[in-house]
Amino acid sequence: MSETRLDDAINTLKESGVRITPQRHAVLEYLLNSMTHPTADEIYKALEGKFPNMSVATVYNNLRVLREIGLVRELTYGDSSSRFDCNTSEHYHIICNECGKIVDFHYPTLDEVESLAEQVTGFDVTYHRMEIYGTCEGCKGPATQKH
Ligand SMILES: [Zn+2]
Ligand SMILES: [Zn+2]
Repeated sequence: MSETRLDDAINTLKESGVRITPQRHAVLEYLLNSMTHPTADEIYKALEGKFPNMSVATVYNNLRVLREIGLVRELTYGDSSSRFDCNTSEHYHIICNECGKIVDFHYPTLDEVESLAEQVTGFDVTYHRMEIYGTCEGCKGPATQKH
């Protein structure tokens, strides 16, 4: 993981006038190092050893602040917990049906879909979301490896 991304993110925080608390720094660092799109709970569990006084609510608050200044994206999936992604460049996700793992992949942004949707419906399009579902390499193996 490059230090540059963390430095850039810290600079964005500073420019936004957001106070950089040790917890906020740790949440950001964890997200930047994690390619797994963790839930707030997972981030909390990963950091509670380092910050015994930190609560899940603190993690949520920090994630909200990071989201508001555009450093983090929140991915919601119906009723299940939101997942957080600090890769804010345009990318799509492929999701494992078995274990729920989310992997980034890059594909040219489907701008035509947005403009067509606007033309057809008269909406002002904000964004679109596309997800591919399947079985990841880890879950695909022989039946004996499952569960
Ligand atoms: Zn899987
Ligand atoms: Zn992602």
